[in-house]
Amino acid sequence: MDIKHYMPNKKPRRSDRLNSKEKAAFEETIKVNMLNSCILGYFDYLPIELKFRILRFLTVEDLSILTISSKAMRNLVEGYRVTQFSGPHRIPYEELHSSLSVEEQAMMLSRFHKLGLLMKRSTCVYATKDRLKIVNEFLTRMECSNVKTCKDMSRCIALLCFGKFLHTVIAGWDDSECQRVFDSLCQHMCVHRLVKAVVANKPGLHSHIEVKVRHFFRRIFLDPCGTVLDKAFWITRVLKPWPLVFQARLLYLLYSGHCSGGEIQWHEMSENTPSDLEQSTQYFGNVSSILQILYMHSVEWSSDEVICLIDEMISTPEDWLVENIAGLLLACGEPMATKMLASRAINGRYVEVASIVASLCLVCVKHSNNSGMSQVMVMLKRIVSVVDNWKDRLLLLCRISDTFKELILDTHEFIDSDDGNDAEFYHHVTAMTEFAKQMTHLAFKNVLEV
Ligand SMILES: [Zn+2]
Repeated sequence: MDIKHYMPNKKPRRSDRLNSKEKAAFEETIKVNMLNSCILGYFDYLPIELKFRILRFLTVEDLSILTISSKAMRNLVEGYRVTQFSGPHRIPYEELHSSLSVEEQAMMLSRFHKLGLLMKRSTCVYATKDRLKIVNEFLTRMECSNVKTCKDMSRCIALLCFGKFLHTVIAGWDDSECQRVFDSLCQHMCVHRLVKAVVANKPGLHSHIEVKVRHFFRRIFLDPCGTVLDKAFWITRVLKPWPLVFQARLLYLLYSGHCSGGEIQWHEMSENTPSDLEQSTQYFGNVSSILQILYMHSVEWSSDEVICLIDEMISTPEDWLVENIAGLLLACGEPMATKMLASRAINGRYVEVASIVASLCLVCVKHSNNSGMSQVMVMLKRIVSVVDNWKDRLLLLCRISDTFKELILDTHEFIDSDDGNDAEFYHHVTAMTEFAKQMTHLAFKNVLEV
């Protein structure tokens, strides 16, 4: 029996001390060698289940930063993302389709931005084809028609969250890769077929598909855009494959017509006019912004193409009321409005130009837009200057006065104080008066500004 075994405090003999020292040094060397062969250091000693368990305590941002720290760590996080992404990292696919408060919506969007960042970093060595596969799978899980809990698509933010995710994943990709993304997602959701059904048939015939197409393009590609150049790129992807008439129809579907009661209001522009500036912004704000982006920031559209698109849209699906054409042009700004009216004036379409100019004045008066009146005079000056000879210029100017006269007489004829036509009459007279004042100012400019 070795009694020393029970006497741990007893000082070992010198020879024993040497042995244990050598043993410890040997073990330390083995440990260092093993550690050197482990890419993740001590972390590699842990079984995979425990590693994943630890990753669960990290935030999505931390995980995404880990993926760029080393190849081994990226593989580990990617393995965790693919197999164990649950618990605190569970993606709330179902909740996205329920009614959320503004704060909850903002939180969701931020969450999907972070997920996009994780996906972008953890798949950075994958081929575009494989990354697109992951993106498509993501969309399948989020798409409203695949989720039973989605009761109201108009209030649901699932596609918007997917859009945020997508734009984060593809940030910095070149145009040809972004085109591949667009084609892949459209193909995955059979959107080309849906668009064809919408633009080639009578407006409103497939109202459900129309709304679906609008939400698909707006929420995934257009609304999450961070810059005007991005928006110009994506709206071009949506419109360019189609002929002009279909482009106009699509543009109306996406931005011009309101989407209420689960239907696009196709006849709104031919039947109603906005009553004040706020309503006018609701009518024309979105569509004028996108037209300005195409006109000023897209290299893929010439100014003539944009004007043709407007021309086509203002008769989609039937002719718009002149007052609405004037409202759109005012919202689009002076350069675009002048370009469009000047091309009509060059072609001798004076009646149309006069009618729109009179309506521009009317809209300014109705919406108390004083700066708008001076904008109209700048437009008129430029439009008149493109007309060839002085006789035609005079003809155009006189035509505007005649239009005012006709408008006033028409309203007077149907005046009935009970249905509010007296307000219309007042606005027409005021519009003509304001126009006359501006003209007087121009005519007597030399005397007035001495
Ligand atoms: Zn939904």
